[in-house]
Amino acid sequence: MQTKYIKYESSDIPEFNEAAKALQQGKLVAFPTETVYGLGADALNSDAVKSIYIAKGRPSDNPLIVHISDIEMLKPLVAKIKPDVVKLVSEYWPGPLTVVLQKSDIVPDVTTGGLDTVAIRMPDHPIALELIRKANIPIAAPSANRSGRPSPTLAEHVAEDLDGRISYIIDGGPCRVGIESTVVDMTGDTATILRPGGITPSMIEKVLGKVELDKSLMDKKNVEIPKSPGMKYRHYSPKADVFVVTGFHEDVANWTKNKIIQDKNMGKKSVVLAAKEHIEQFGLNNAISYGSVKDASEVAANIFSLFRKCDQDGVDKIYVEAISKEGIGLAVMNRIEKAAGGKIIEV
Ligand code: AMP
Ligand code: MG
Repeated sequence: MQTKYIKYESSDIPEFNEAAKALQQGKLVAFPTETVYGLGADALNSDAVKSIYIAKGRPSDNPLIVHISDIEMLKPLVAKIKPDVVKLVSEYWPGPLTVVLQKSDIVPDVTTGGLDTVAIRMPDHPIALELIRKANIPIAAPSANRSGRPSPTLAEHVAEDLDGRISYIIDGGPCRVGIESTVVDMTGDTATILRPGGITPSMIEKVLGKVELDKSLMDKKNVEIPKSPGMKYRHYSPKADVFVVTGFHEDVANWTKNKIIQDKNMGKKSVVLAAKEHIEQFGLNNAISYGSVKDASEVAANIFSLFRKCDQDGVDKIYVEAISKEGIGLAVMNRIEKAAGGKIIEV
């Protein structure tokens, strides 16, 4: 299959209309959102949705998020809408918030990985919203990467993973947030975060008064099966082996410095991703800044792109200096720990 690459200039360009039509015809279109690039298909067309799983190599029990452009699109997709859901989405849509609700009969089982619930979000990105509006159908869109790889935050990342496997890639430049949406289960009495993301627990608590974290998120040693099926897989990973290093930053720097020298002696190429304020302490030319220790949203915006760059540079091992799990730091550390497959070193 030839993948058509569209450089977005305006929604009036003929290629953009072509991409919206392609969605209506059951084809796959990758497009930018504020979180990461999504791989879109008609959420109500089982065959179209099946082709997402094939293109990504995604396990069929890992459900997709359905993207909408207008609150009116929500009603037909769900069994009912409770007042708390209205409150929450009124505050954070469009935005990096996904709500899990009881699904209606029109949502096919493939879209929800066989669950009787459906995950829905309204993205905060003009290209995504315009594309959904033009196609005029709800769009199932997981991240536009091969399953298990770091999520794509540039159109080039999408091409790296999916060129030749999908019909269109719409290039809208870098994604602002850089990590995926917060997934919140709204089917029970208390809102429960299944996957942390751009909307923090305290932002949800502010609106609803109460929010819980799924047990699988509370303690890395916890062996509970996550309710969000996608969270059970090793995920977001570069080809290199990832290690999280946590502790006082001088100890982290000393430990990592020694480790990188040892690796080098064994013929391995290692790098450390660390806060820009601490880079000098590593005293190495293979220390790369992921942003400021004071601003986890900078780390969110950079981390997946840095993982991919390490792959391009043929890096064998990546040490990542841990950041605080405050605010969006919770989501950032969730992705890094997943990429590390649980290899966390406390120094
Ligand atoms: P992705 O689109 O690749 O960012 O992945 C979507 C995430 O949403 C995965 O972690 C899924 O497990 C989660 N998700 C989607 N639908 C549901 C659902 N009905 N219940 C719980 N989690 C869901
Ligand atoms: Mg994904």
